[in-house]
Amino acid sequence: MAERFDHFMARANAAYYATHNPFEDFTTAPELTQVFGELLGAWAKTVWQMMGAPEHRLLVEAGPGRGTLMRDALRVWPEAEVHFIETSPRLREEQRARVPQAIWHDSLASLPPGPMILLANEFLDALPVRQFIRTQTGWAERWVENGTYTERPSEFPLPDDPVGTIREINEAALAFCAALEARGAVALFIDYGPMQSAAGSSVQAIRAGKYADPLAEPGAADLTAHVDFAAIASRFSTQGPVKQNAFLTALGLFQRTDFLAQKNPEQAEALRLSARRLTAPEAMGSLFKALVLCPKELPKLPGLES
Ligand code: SAH
Repeated sequence: MAERFDHFMARANAAYYATHNPFEDFTTAPELTQVFGELLGAWAKTVWQMMGAPEHRLLVEAGPGRGTLMRDALRVWPEAEVHFIETSPRLREEQRARVPQAIWHDSLASLPPGPMILLANEFLDALPVRQFIRTQTGWAERWVENGTYTERPSEFPLPDDPVGTIREINEAALAFCAALEARGAVALFIDYGPMQSAAGSSVQAIRAGKYADPLAEPGAADLTAHVDFAAIASRFSTQGPVKQNAFLTALGLFQRTDFLAQKNPEQAEALRLSARRLTAPEAMGSLFKALVLCPKELPKLPGLES
């Protein structure tokens, strides 16, 4: 069977998230420290006030994983009305254990109308990318056949590049952003990827905590691609991207960490270590970025001033 690469990636990830506990394979910011979700909860509450305090406090999370981020966010903003966009039945159960009052959706389409704030940590990177290779005769698209890459000529409009260049297009992420913009949502994306669009394949497979072959055994590994923040920022009204360390530091990561560390001395070391891991440039501080998609008329939102 021959399959376009993005279709392969979508199928592999749907199978992976339906059958695996991803948190045995990798860890994420909300799983490192409760402060991450608390800061995002405070951020969302402030943004809701800046939006003019709409009647419904619609707080949506896309790809909420174990529900940890939202559990922590609700400690700071308990009045929020929580909706989750999640396709994995298995992860929905995990989320229900931590946020029983949430309402679940397969996509943005079934959310109630009206102003909303969306949070998404490491969500866009799980969406499928199309890959194109510049050949002697023009652009070709990557397909997968019998566990190896093949190429087919493509009419997809791309700027010219040297022969051999690979370009990735995350159509699913762009469609998600277009739907958010159409409904006037404010969306905070935290994910890893460069500031400027970069050539090359960024697709990675992680299996049992180690890099694996993305094409071997679809569904056994988590497939991700770097998020092209510049591509989103050039098409939509956005603030940022800023590096994760600047964003979290501006929101008070270290103050909140110190406060909790003093109250819970037995956890002080772990809390401080996690804060450092989220901000150290060689760990998650620099490769991870925060980008907000929001209506043009909103003033600068917290953490995005730089
Ligand atoms: N935000 C969490 C989990 C990140 S893992 C954290 O930071 O810990 C990616 C999450 O996105 C998982 O919950 C996965 O099931 C979900 N997901 C992946 N593709 C999706 C899609 N197309 N639609 C909805 N959810 C998706």
